[in-house]
This record gives sequence, structure tokens and C-alpha cells, in this order.
Amino acid sequence: MGPFRTLYLDMNSFFASVEQQLDPSLRGRPVAITAMEKPVGICVAASYEAKAFGVRTGTPVQEARRLCPGLAFRPSRHRLYVCFNLKIADVLDRHAELERIRSVDEFQLGLSGDATSLEGATRLVSVLKVAVAREVGPCLRFSAGIGPNHLLAKIAGKLEKPNGFQWLSPENMPDRLAHLALDDLPGISRAMKARLELAGIRDVPSLCRLDPRHARAIWRSVEGERFVRALQGEPIPLMRTKRGGFGNSKVLAPEFRDPRAAYLVSRWLVEKAVARLRRDGRVAAVFSLYIARMGAHSLRQDMTCAASQDGLRVTCANFLTMRPDPVHDLVLMNPPFSGTHWMRHVRHAFDFLKPGGTLRAILPASAEVNETQAHEKFRAWAECHGPGWRGLWRDLPPESFAEVGTNIATVILTLHKPAA
Ligand SMILES: [Mg+2]
Repeated sequence: MGPFRTLYLDMNSFFASVEQQLDPSLRGRPVAITAMEKPVGICVAASYEAKAFGVRTGTPVQEARRLCPGLAFRPSRHRLYVCFNLKIADVLDRHAELERIRSVDEFQLGLSGDATSLEGATRLVSVLKVAVAREVGPCLRFSAGIGPNHLLAKIAGKLEKPNGFQWLSPENMPDRLAHLALDDLPGISRAMKARLELAGIRDVPSLCRLDPRHARAIWRSVEGERFVRALQGEPIPLMRTKRGGFGNSKVLAPEFRDPRAAYLVSRWLVEKAVARLRRDGRVAAVFSLYIARMGAHSLRQDMTCAASQDGLRVTCANFLTMRPDPVHDLVLMNPPFSGTHWMRHVRHAFDFLKPGGTLRAILPASAEVNETQAHEKFRAWAECHGPGWRGLWRDLPPESFAEVGTNIATVILTLHKPAA
């Protein structure tokens, strides 16, 4: 057995590479990805061709244009990047032992047998590079790192970009990292760097030599001890982090800063978070909204809710051609108002109720009062199923739907299916 246990893969310029893969006219060209639909705000990613001009994540769009006049801008398509992430994960898993997807563009693999030696791991990385290029696309390249644990593998994976391969082990440590600043290491924030400096630790070699118990004191947590032990090459496993929640945030472009537009953006963010919640089979018990305002106090509102998940299944089909499955406790409907189409819709929807179920339909007020033969016949049918004539129809307040541009008078029809 060789000394290496973990292989870490970091996709190069991932978002821009996906765009280049899908649009051949972008290949070999500088590309920047923006958070907004239009090229405003900041760049959230850049292709290697753009990076050569100094365009980076966080570069303002205006500045990026100045640095690189031929730069192509594309809006970020996060769902698409997640699909590519899963495709790559699938390929890796077929050729090696995929331990964990670490982020949208990072993967952690376990090494065993022959692949624990430098030669074996080098061969495995070549196999994976060819497989990803062939099965996902030649624009998708990655840098790889190996180490005796996940921390050193991750640091190694970031040493050489693009398309690099590096290794770290007690054999070349800490010299191989001596050129890095403390906060170049994953897990060392600027605040932690300041704390380390206060304790007299000013460079990576001193951090590597630190007594792990001293690290625990500086971090004020066992994490410090684990971090330094991992840096020293011990086989420290990655702790399973407990997910605290699902969230999304966005910096609002100027045109989205009035409350109505901001509300729509917040709904979109909630939908994105809920999609992930649903995918993981979780339910929500607390909902939090956080708004940071420039030059003013931030706002935060938490709301506890009954553990819930929408569990919606959306079917796109012509409703009238769907075969009724009488399994539903409740049908809520807003059928088409034109002509008397709503009559057929309500009668069809009624067949979706199980015995004892309830149907509520929003209908034009004419449904209750028009005296055509069709109306009379519909009301006679409805009466058989309603809770008695008095409770069957209920007026909605005038102009209930004015906000969506209609002032039509409306009623709610309630029907109960008899219990079996
Ligand atoms: Mg990357």
C-alpha cells in the first residue's frame, strides 16, 4: 500500500467550460459568466482565456470589459451546471470510488490498492481525464491532487491549474506549501489568520509544526487539532457536516431594488431552495428571510412553521382527457370561464374525489343565476352533491381578481361527495 488515500478533483473554470462545451463558438475565447441575465454587476466565473486578461470571479462587468475588450458574457445557468456536475459524478463513480461530491465543481474520491502509490494514482487520474473528456465533453477539464487525507489532497488539487496534477505527503511537506499564505489554505479565514498571527504563527511551515493541542486552543475547538493533524499527514477523516438548512441569496441589481421586484426575486430564491429541499427528501420547519441593505441595518425575520414540504407533482396535460383517479380528499379549481366550459371541468373534476371528499371551484357569478337550460341542468346536478342549497354557492367580494386585470364577479361552489 502506498501513502495516498484521497484524490481530489477541482473542475477548471467550470461554469465557463460548460458554456464553451455547449456553444462551440465560445471555445478558445475569453468568456465571463454573470449572475444577472444582462451583463451588469459582477462576473461570477471566467474562462481561462479571460483569466489571462485578469478577469476573475468578482471582477465588475465594466472593469472586465476594459481588461478584455473581446470578452463574451453569458448569464449563469446554475441548474445546467448541476446537471453537468451529476454527469461528471456518474463517470467518476464508474471508474473509481467516488466518496463525495464536495461542491458544484469539486469531487472527492477514495484511493485503494494500486492507486495508493504515486504511479498508480497518476494512471487513475489519466483514465479519469480521458473518461470525462469523452463521456461529458472535451471542454471539461480538471486539476487533481492526492494526499494521505482529504485536506492535503484538496490543497494539492489547487496547486496547479488548469489541468494539473500534484501530490502532498509528509515526504514533501511543508516545503511544497512554504510559498502559500496562511489564508490560501482551505479552512483558514482572514479572521483565523489574524488569530494565528496573534499566537506567533505567521507562515504555513510554522502552522505545520504546531503542536495539535496548541491548535485546539487557538481555534477554541477540536477542529484546530484535526486541521493541524491533517496538515501533518495523519489519516484524519472528513467529519460529516450536519446541514443546517437550504438557502439562496442574491445581490439585487439596481432594477430589482424596489419592493415589488425584490419580492419576485425572493420568491425565485425560495423556489430554488425548496427544489433542493424536495430533492433531498427533507421538510422545512423554519423559514427565514434576511435582507442586507446598503448603509442601513439589515433585517431578519424567522418564522416557525409546521414541518412541511409541498410535495407537488405537476402534470401538464389537457385536463378533460385525463382519466379520473378517485383518490383525492380535496379538489381546488379555477376552471376556464369562457362560455360554459367550466361546467364540464367541474363535473370531470368531481370524479377525482374519493368518497367523503370536497370540491371547491371558483366560477363566474353567472353560474349561480343564469337561466339557460345548461345552467339549470348543471345546478340541478350540483344540488345533489352540495351541502344543501344554502351552503352551495358563496359570493366572493367584488373585484377579487382586479389585481390580475379582471373585474368579473365570482362565486365559490362547494360540493361534497357522499361518504362510502
Ligand atoms: Mg474549480
